[in-house]
Amino acid sequence: MTFVDLILPIPLKKLYTYSVEKEMLEDLEIGKRTIVEFGRKKLYTAIIYKIHEKKPKNYETKNIISIIDDFPSISILQIKFWEWIANYYFSSIGEVYKAAVPSALKIESETKIFLREEIIDFENLNNNEKIIIENLKKHKQLSIKDLQKKTEQKNIIFKVNSLLKKNVIATKEKLSINYKRKIIKIVKLTSFAQDKENLKNIFKELEKKPKYLHLLMNYLNVSKFLNQTKTLNVEKKKLLEVSKISLNIFNALVKKNIFEIQNLEIGRLENSNNILKKPSELNDFQKKALEEIKNSFEEKDVSLLHGVTSSGKTEIYIHLINEEIKKGKQVLYLLPEIALTTQIITRLKNIFGNKVGVYHSKFANSERVEIWRNILEQKNGESSDDLKIILGVRSSIFLPFHNLGLIIIDEEHENTYKQNNPAPRYNARDTSIVLAKLHNAKVLMGTATPSLETFFNAKNKKYSIINLKERFKNIELPEVIIANTHIAYKKKQMIGHHFTQTLLENMKIALDEKKQIILFQNRRGFSPYIECMTCKWIPKCENCDVNLTYYQKENKLSCHYCGYTEKPPKTCKACESTNLKNRGFGTEKIEEEIPLFFPKSKIGRMDLNNTRTRKSYENIISRFEKGKIDILIGTQMISKGLDFDNVSIVGIMNADNLLNFADFRALERSYQLMAQVSGRAGRKNKRGKVIIQTTEPNHRIIKNVIENDYINMYENEMEQRKMFKYPPFFKLIKITVKHRHLGILERGANDLAKNLREIFGNRILGPEFPSIKRIQKFYLKNIILKIEKDKSTNKTRFFLQKAIDNIANYNYSKSLKILINVDPY
Ligand SMILES: [Zn+2]
Ligand SMILES: [Zn+2]
Repeated sequence: MTFVDLILPIPLKKLYTYSVEKEMLEDLEIGKRTIVEFGRKKLYTAIIYKIHEKKPKNYETKNIISIIDDFPSISILQIKFWEWIANYYFSSIGEVYKAAVPSALKIESETKIFLREEIIDFENLNNNEKIIIENLKKHKQLSIKDLQKKTEQKNIIFKVNSLLKKNVIATKEKLSINYKRKIIKIVKLTSFAQDKENLKNIFKELEKKPKYLHLLMNYLNVSKFLNQTKTLNVEKKKLLEVSKISLNIFNALVKKNIFEIQNLEIGRLENSNNILKKPSELNDFQKKALEEIKNSFEEKDVSLLHGVTSSGKTEIYIHLINEEIKKGKQVLYLLPEIALTTQIITRLKNIFGNKVGVYHSKFANSERVEIWRNILEQKNGESSDDLKIILGVRSSIFLPFHNLGLIIIDEEHENTYKQNNPAPRYNARDTSIVLAKLHNAKVLMGTATPSLETFFNAKNKKYSIINLKERFKNIELPEVIIANTHIAYKKKQMIGHHFTQTLLENMKIALDEKKQIILFQNRRGFSPYIECMTCKWIPKCENCDVNLTYYQKENKLSCHYCGYTEKPPKTCKACESTNLKNRGFGTEKIEEEIPLFFPKSKIGRMDLNNTRTRKSYENIISRFEKGKIDILIGTQMISKGLDFDNVSIVGIMNADNLLNFADFRALERSYQLMAQVSGRAGRKNKRGKVIIQTTEPNHRIIKNVIENDYINMYENEMEQRKMFKYPPFFKLIKITVKHRHLGILERGANDLAKNLREIFGNRILGPEFPSIKRIQKFYLKNIILKIEKDKSTNKTRFFLQKAIDNIANYNYSKSLKILINVDPY
């Protein structure tokens, strides 16, 4: 008997074994997708991991239901990559599979509910149940989700369960297929009409029917049929639009055997026929850096390009990509955020045309599947439709590459490369290095402000390092000016609430010169919170332990963690005082204050709240580029690698917010953020200015920013990291315990920490509440494991799992949730 071990898209600790019927043996191959039943008659798409003859000891196997693929969808190399991720990040391979493959390729069954009998005894049913029955009568069968929508009831599962017990309804599983190929209708001349003589006769016949003739002429025109060269495909919909002729007339021509319709499957990927440009000439510094990178790849697999802001790193990438493509290799170009891609996509498409694909989890499922298929199906031969360069965010490391030559990780220091939830909690930058190894490919990381780990690896010669200190076109680094808000507050010199004299004066000069301004504020909303001036009461989220943020335009209070919103209170809910005030300030409040000083300037705001969609984000960027916005206010989003030519002033509204953040990376990140934001100032022709408002002008990080001294920041920070046993000297593993009840959480976290201390000793810290101790109704406590870098991952994992399993034996702990996050930063 033949068995297969399968990867299921669920967090199982082990692979699951199924048996295979004789007829399917021929089709078995590792990496193919199969459909199997698991658990309560639910169907899943599972991947064949191993084929063998060993019957599992502890359970009866089920047969696999079918094999979907003719060729493997997942390569052996990908499976190896998944295994590495599962092992390093302490997740299951099923979780990696779930994250890696677009859901449209993982057909899953959906539970449908239907009535057992036509005639129902309504006596035993309550009102809510009756509503469910009425809906099922009307629609025959419904999924849980649809039923919930139609009945507008909460806790529908609970009611469905009770109806199941009463034997009134039944369920069945139905496969839902999410991906459909896109078909368009094409108009062609029939073979009869294609004949020259016949066509002449048709013209004669139609002479007295001008509308018919008009339609036919239009077709001939658009399709270029008479030009004798290649006849172009004409879409039916377009032809009708262009001709402004009714469908009836079109159908009549079909009846007369003149037109026929063909179905054509088309890709969803955009294709353009633009004439491609050559990569632009590099300056001497760039040329030198390019040569150094290429030489470094002879010796090492990973290189760090440490180039100041606007030193033209992208141009260097483009030249490297070009060389890989000529060798027939694929290139993965990772970016920290999709928002950034707008400017870069255009640049790459101008040069590489249709070879560039963009991959992002926010894209429509079908679009992602087509990119997946395109990469999977390209074998060795060159085709002009083959995607060779994938531009994407972290999830694009999972695409089915088979001939990768180079991975570029732009802005490698950004924390968006790390996935925190759900598992696998991987870092795309670090896993990319493993991916490259599997392909024998090279990795290039680029940034002006390397993460300490990466710079440490470069200093220790694990990576090579290439410096690019000259800014492109000799643009000078901006002048950094400190505005001391401590003194300004004391002397009551703050203008409005948030502006120093220094900042306003410089803004005025810039606006008079028709230059643009960026104001950076790392808080969203109108003001972080509302406070009662009488009793100090602050409205909080009912699900999380956070203050609600106030949004003036929408007139609402909202929670950033769970999305909960409510109307702002008119009176204090504690003391009923009406003396409520906005405290602190966010981007929206600054937006409101500026017109007091600069009534004629046009203001734009960019933060997560108004850039939920890619379109709205692109819209703001493009308006700013075209000079339709004078002052752009934004959160960290504006620090991320955008290039604007006309910005002369960057204002950092409150540096203290950054410096005082409670996290071991706070100072490193403050430096990175301020240096990156500053890099947006002064691009062409003129030196820009950066104005930093802070109460701590002598803070060492502020000094490092003024002097543009990365090395000094690095050395000071590394001393701290070494002393307090933080990365890159030690490895961190964060264990988060969650429960709805505080008491159970405390008990579970304490017991787990105690178990862990027995094994790991003083390497265990906590348990402690995180800065927000309740999120979405769950209380949280963290336990930190700081472990020496040379300790074996497998052993650590083994002991950690043992301690967690041990907790599961205590009867109170059944519903305790325990999450593990490796390298949680
Ligand atoms: Zn009050
Ligand atoms: Zn909340």
